[in-house]
Amino acid sequence: GMGALVGQVSPTAAGQLYAEARQSLAGGVTAGLRWHPYLGRPFYATRAEGPYLYDLEGKRYLDFNMANGAVLLGHGHPAVNRAVQLGLAAGILTASETEHHVSLATTLCRVIPCAERVRFAVTGTEANLVAVRLARHVTGRRKLLTFAGHFHGLAEPFLFRAAEGTGSDVPVPASGGVPDTYGQDLVIVPWNDPDAFDRALARHRGEVAAVICEPVHYNAGCIPPLPGFLAHLRQRTQEEGIVLIFDEVLSGFRMALGGAQEFYGVTPDLCTLAKALASGLPLAAICGRADLMEHLSPAGPVAHSGTYTGQLLGVLAARATLEALESPGVYVELGRRAARFYDEAQSIFDRAGIPARIQGLGARFGLYFGRREPVVTWAEAVASDEALHRRFVLGCLKRGLYFHAYLGLPGHAGFSLAHDDDCLDHALNVIETVARELAR
Ligand code: PLP
Repeated sequence: GMGALVGQVSPTAAGQLYAEARQSLAGGVTAGLRWHPYLGRPFYATRAEGPYLYDLEGKRYLDFNMANGAVLLGHGHPAVNRAVQLGLAAGILTASETEHHVSLATTLCRVIPCAERVRFAVTGTEANLVAVRLARHVTGRRKLLTFAGHFHGLAEPFLFRAAEGTGSDVPVPASGGVPDTYGQDLVIVPWNDPDAFDRALARHRGEVAAVICEPVHYNAGCIPPLPGFLAHLRQRTQEEGIVLIFDEVLSGFRMALGGAQEFYGVTPDLCTLAKALASGLPLAAICGRADLMEHLSPAGPVAHSGTYTGQLLGVLAARATLEALESPGVYVELGRRAARFYDEAQSIFDRAGIPARIQGLGARFGLYFGRREPVVTWAEAVASDEALHRRFVLGCLKRGLYFHAYLGLPGHAGFSLAHDDDCLDHALNVIETVARELAR
């Protein structure tokens, strides 16, 4: 088992494994963003438990990545593990409809404000593609309006960045192999800027099928919507007959059971969920108004199916996850721990004289170095001092706090319900030590 593996490795085990990986895995990794830019290799884990992650040498880390946000209950939550074991015992892994699918969909319709109908998918990316396809069909329009830096998955319609300094407002591909023609159907505007949004709608009047956003911009760390901004999007899209899609892949369940739409009291037409929904099993969902959702096949002409869609282990894990999240007081407690952690970490940086801003909502946060003022735009998030961020992350890793970093993107981080007050106190102590080191 893993114990034997942990016992055998040498001090350079990660370096050796990475050298070996590069002989078989493209780029030495199984996902581009799993390469840790500050380590110069991926972090290799052997196991995880609750708030902890263990490396090849058996060293324990308090995890502030939590599977990119996929695990909100804590690693290896007993109820999730039991649910997965029941699924294995049933012998059905995928491609069968079961009563569990119906039960999970019923629960989502109860707890997610926009959900009158649900369709399951495998990944957040797939769910967003389906939501956009649906919007294009029901409106008969082509264009998609997104916000700078909002992440909706590595698929063609989303793999663009706003053209800057080119005199053109046609977005440019953010990946090789993406035809720039896709960019003609895409409008990218700054987040939290209602005037820029209105101007873009006026420029593309009658052409926009959908507006898609992260209702809390967690892929920029954590940029909440400014007061009234989501309501503005809701009102303007309604007036223009545009489908409003909240990509709640990361914000879902993070600060309220019903996600950002419940927290801010703004209900989109469609939303997508993944990550925390199934505690790390691959499961996503498209939720929304019945009159839109019923255009999906077989009831309507909009294609959506797949061998692994609604695979049973994910469905069972999601049922167990929602049951745990529905226990009384979960979100009050989560909010209390989050507020305390963010406040105390901010005071630590301030006392140490380190220019840093920690900004969080619910279980996820952004850490911005080189500034103390609130971050409200993507431009401010990416302008963060990378050298200081690097020293911070490496100082934390050395002392057993795991922070991931994404190549070329602002750092984002999060904790879980398994991070109790003792864990957070320990993390704050480490952060204090690292902050003092940075100040020297
Ligand atoms: N949307 C958001 C907001 C995300 O954070 C992610 C994360 O990866 C995705 C979509 C893509 O989801 P997935 O990685 O499951 O395809």
